[in-house]
Amino acid sequence: MERALLLAEAAAAEGEVPVGAVVVRRSDDRIVGEGRNRREAARDPLAHAELEAIRNASRFLGGWRLSGCDIYVTLEPCPMCMGGIINARIDRVIFGAYDKKAGSCGSVADLSAYPYNHRPDVKGGVMEERCAALLKNFFAGKRNKKLNEIKIVKAETDDQLMRIAALADEIWHEYFPCIISEDQINYMVEKFCSFKAMKDNIKNENYSYYFVKKNGADIGYTAAKPDGDRLFLSKIYLKKEERGKKYSRRIIEFYEERCLNEGFVSMWLTVNKHNDSTIAAYKAMGFEISGEGVADIGSGYVMDDYYMEKIIGRN
Ligand SMILES: [Zn+2]
Repeated sequence: MERALLLAEAAAAEGEVPVGAVVVRRSDDRIVGEGRNRREAARDPLAHAELEAIRNASRFLGGWRLSGCDIYVTLEPCPMCMGGIINARIDRVIFGAYDKKAGSCGSVADLSAYPYNHRPDVKGGVMEERCAALLKNFFAGKRNKKLNEIKIVKAETDDQLMRIAALADEIWHEYFPCIISEDQINYMVEKFCSFKAMKDNIKNENYSYYFVKKNGADIGYTAAKPDGDRLFLSKIYLKKEERGKKYSRRIIEFYEERCLNEGFVSMWLTVNKHNDSTIAAYKAMGFEISGEGVADIGSGYVMDDYYMEKIIGRN
């Protein structure tokens, strides 16, 4: 398993999901085949560590039948690999971390329990902590890298505010048609997101407007204002193609830091009651529904909203 872990680390260094495997001949305890996940480099969905190790061992031993051999793998095999293990007649599968999403040794399915003509013995959870940590760190690193591309930059000059107004116009028109009418969108953009409205908000209510930038390009905007000892997040809008990538998490982190620095006890926002995906996303970031209200925004239009609040310092 130590050797399999080293192979998994090598995979991680190449940007592959870190999984390593070795095939060991029991008669002399010798490693006869090695493999690591190479799915990205090989552009091959079949390039899993176990299949690489099995192919490697078959070449080394000069035959497809690997009876008398065990396979050690850092992650519970998927159905494809377990199929390969059964077909290679491998005696035992020893794996490290459990795979609750794709494991075929009991986590999701248990292929070793089916009456195939060969049934390998299975032992899971060997050096589990180290095997699982490798995967966990790999995915955490990937997430952070992605989020670090996102910067929140305050809009200060008139020129910058005009760019935000243009962004708002674009985003609102592509975002809301399924929830509110075109006329209402036009009305709201004018009322809340025009250059003039923003200038008023900054002057009268101490609003701050920010660009959301990804590698230097404007991909959205956000705004907030103090509301007593709480911070009210009035807007977080991203362009269509940038949604669903968890970037709003980065923006919430930014506001959380602002709350900590400026002593706000919580931050809150409103979400349209029919906007299920957004409500779910905020819940996942630690917000809870704290109330609801129908706000009359004039000209016969109303906003039917939930209030959602996140207490600072609680996850
Ligand atoms: Zn696999």
